[in-house]
Amino acid sequence: MIEFLNMTINEQKNIALIAHDGKKHDMLKWCEDNKEILQKHKLVGTGTTARMIADHVGLSIKGYNSGPLGGDQQIGAKIVEGKIDMVIFFSDPLAAQPHDPDVKALLRIAQVYDIPIANNISTADFLIHSTLMDKKYTHQVENFKNTVEKRAKEL
Ligand code: PGA
Repeated sequence: MIEFLNMTINEQKNIALIAHDGKKHDMLKWCEDNKEILQKHKLVGTGTTARMIADHVGLSIKGYNSGPLGGDQQIGAKIVEGKIDMVIFFSDPLAAQPHDPDVKALLRIAQVYDIPIANNISTADFLIHSTLMDKKYTHQVENFKNTVEKRAKEL
């Protein structure tokens, strides 16, 4: 039987913002439209997206590497460490990406850790205007420590 751990997403959320090149202007407009809400939270992003948000919208945001250079993987690793609570990822469904495996990996790890993730503007709008944005939220994530112990014994 799978065991679960309770994980808490606090009132102040750690939000990752990522946009592919074809969606960067959508991301800037979305950040501008939601600036008042976003500035209450802690923001991180992939390199170019984060820089553009800081320069054009004036939000404080920590930048990781650029996506094609491993930024999506860095954000995925932070999800595993419990340091990212929510992801707004405007991926471009009409353009091939050199780092497509990294993009898929990020989507997968967000699913594994039950992290809210928006891939388009309307989902991002529903998320950011959710009443849960101002509340503490507890959700359950598989207890991987126990899983490792069990697997190491059984396999
Ligand atoms: P970027 O990376 O913000 O550095 O452009 C985003 C991505 O392509 O995943």
